Amino acid sequence: MELSDSTLYDVLIVGGGPAGATAGTYAARAELKVGIMDKGLTTGALGTTSKIANYPGIDGEIGGAELLKIMRKQAVEFGAEFINDKALGSDLSSDPKMVFGNFGVYSARSIIIATGSMGRTNLIKGETDLLGRGVSYCAVCDAAFFKGKDVAVIGKSDEALEEALYLTRFVKTLHFFSPTEQVNVPPEALAELTEKENVVMHPGFVVREICGEEKVDCLQVSARGSKETEALPVAGVFVYLQGAKPITDFVVGQLEINDEGCLQVDRENQTAIPGVYAVGDVLCSHVKQAVIAASDGAIAAISAEKWLRGRDSHRNDWAH
Ligand SMILES: Cc1cc2nc3c(=O)[nH]c(=O)nc-3n(C[C@H](O)[C@H](O)[C@H](O)COP(=O)(O)OP(=O)(O)OC[C@H]3O[C@@H](n4cnc5c(N)ncnc54)[C@H](O)[C@@H]3O)c2cc1C
Repeated sequence: MELSDSTLYDVLIVGGGPAGATAGTYAARAELKVGIMDKGLTTGALGTTSKIANYPGIDGEIGGAELLKIMRKQAVEFGAEFINDKALGSDLSSDPKMVFGNFGVYSARSIIIATGSMGRTNLIKGETDLLGRGVSYCAVCDAAFFKGKDVAVIGKSDEALEEALYLTRFVKTLHFFSPTEQVNVPPEALAELTEKENVVMHPGFVVREICGEEKVDCLQVSARGSKETEALPVAGVFVYLQGAKPITDFVVGQLEINDEGCLQVDRENQTAIPGVYAVGDVLCSHVKQAVIAASDGAIAAISAEKWLRGRDSHRNDWAH
């Protein structure tokens, strides 16, 4: 893995939902160099929400992804840089701190974890046993192993779509399974995939089992609601499903995670590692609402700025 560039962020925010985007706005407005790393617009809780009507200042109903676009735009207008990448690992104690993504390594003086709580809860039968032997979560890492072969992608977010598009350049046939008929991506983005000659769509089909002895050789699939399965031969399967578990896999072993799977923070949203903060649904300490996540983001950004500038008291944003 290579260093993406020599950029050293003052604050690197992992996750660009309401928590991360708001942290980005506050940190960038405080004239810090800010990166917001996110794996997709429709992969987090707000991005998947079809309508939200209780976000302050928004008149009437708005789509979650639409609201999120506004929040991200605001952060970018204050100078935050958006990085379209997925965090896979990290070194939170090094100086500078590092986050390892699909496309590079990102270094920062402080880190705000804002990855939400849409992590996988249920695994598909056979998934763990065949991980690394045909089961993958990273097209960029593994696509070349499946050159000229048949593979499947499972998911319904823009992350799943982008990974599928990448794979179409390598594979013979790409089977796209979305567990519901509805896919959380704009029709024009979906059309880019469906128009490819080597893509077969399976909307409303569920993958019940990933099969194979030494490596993946087929999937057992069925229509949603039906118990009848049929086998589909594939050499690989890329899984991008969502659940309701805090996403902390990329910090594992470095921060304490409680029985509910959440990160622990103090009243400034700082974790046990100085300069590392956590905000939003990745915490268990509060109500899961967009406005609360946004509030967490503001607190963490103001705290990070105080920590980075070596002050012992907060500077209010209106002092700007
Ligand atoms: C169906 C549904 C309906 C809801 N309705 C409402 C409502 O009406 N009103 C309301 O206030 N709240 C609602 N909520 C709750 C609200 O959406 C969440 O509380 C809020 O979005 C949490 O914000 P967050 O930033 O912590 O996480 P999220 O919104 O989940 O954002 C997390 C971000 O992190 C990114 N990410 C995750 N892992 C990685 C990684 N490894 N690398 C890079 N990026 C990553 C994701 O792409 C995502 O953009 C609803 C939630 C759901 C699921």
